[in-house]
Amino acid sequence: MRLILLGPPGAGKGTQAKFLVDAYNIPQLSTGDMLREAVAAGTEVGKQAKAIMEAGKLVSDDIINAIISERISQPDCARGFILDGFPRTLEQADALYHMLDDKGMKIEKVIALEVDDDALVERISGRYTCADCGEGYHDKFKQPAKEGVCDRCGSTEFKRRKDDNPETLKTRLFAYYKDTAPLIGYYHAYRMLNTVDGMADIGDVTKAIRTILDA
Ligand code: AMP
Repeated sequence: MRLILLGPPGAGKGTQAKFLVDAYNIPQLSTGDMLREAVAAGTEVGKQAKAIMEAGKLVSDDIINAIISERISQPDCARGFILDGFPRTLEQADALYHMLDDKGMKIEKVIALEVDDDALVERISGRYTCADCGEGYHDKFKQPAKEGVCDRCGSTEFKRRKDDNPETLKTRLFAYYKDTAPLIGYYHAYRMLNTVDGMADIGDVTKAIRTILDA
């Protein structure tokens, strides 16, 4: 199963991808996570991406396409993968098509999560994760059962993304509508697009996605 999750920042792509990893036993390929790891490790890519990410702008297609091309060639992607945050431009979508075509593969499904802008701002400005296991939390929607202690691993360290602030979010949403939203038309034209109401409860969104994938 080769799948693209499309949607603005805060739409729930990462949350849903994690459920699908367990359900279909294929990896989640998040270009945002890969870039954050590169920044933390201080690699050449990380050095080039850091300021761009902090400003909420898009990293260049060349860098991103190279990262994905390398990643999808790894053995754990042979049975499929879930793309989360890639492609984000029409150029990336074309590059992805050719990368896969060279291997005799193609994307099977594209799912766009639709969420109102106001909800995105609320979701993003309150979210944080466990610094040890990555479990996701939210100031308003999902606090740990015991204050300050991760439900999953017991850690007391939490972190917030530097770019999850209202000012940077404006730039990220601008980039989404300008560069990424055109992909909805692109995949519609190729008859690959499915849309899901991302305003629904997390579990209902998962069900809707699984219905599409299992059809
Ligand atoms: P995300 O975790 O998907 O919200 O991505 C965080 C940041 O990483 C974005 O705001 C961009 O700066 C960068 N980024 C992630 N994926 C891409 C991509 N496919 N193309 C360009 N920049 C990206």
